Amino acid sequence: MGKKTKISIDYFLCGDGNKVDPRECSKCLRICEPALFLLHETIGAVEEDPYAPQIWRITPLYSSLCTRCLKCVEICPEEAISVTW
Ligand code: SF4
Ligand code: SF4
Repeated sequence: MGKKTKISIDYFLCGDGNKVDPRECSKCLRICEPALFLLHETIGAVEEDPYAPQIWRITPLYSSLCTRCLKCVEICPEEAISVTW
């Protein structure tokens, strides 16, 4: 058994109205073979426009299924993803 994998996303670089709308990029979603990234609206966010891009973000799930291929890290144009173990 190796160490636990930790996948994290910097929301100042992707989502929450900062730099990239993850609905338009979604490169990490498409490249991850075990499909560990979830694109969703933030829960509890209060925005006038329910479709405002700043209330969308990507959350990594089930990091135990990560193959540590690092394709998400390589493809992210904002260098917003880190995968460590
Ligand atoms: S390192 Fe590979 S398996 Fe792990 S989250 Fe990134 S793309 Fe998916
Ligand atoms: S690849 Fe990077 S910038 Fe694109 S949606 Fe994923 S985390 Fe955001």
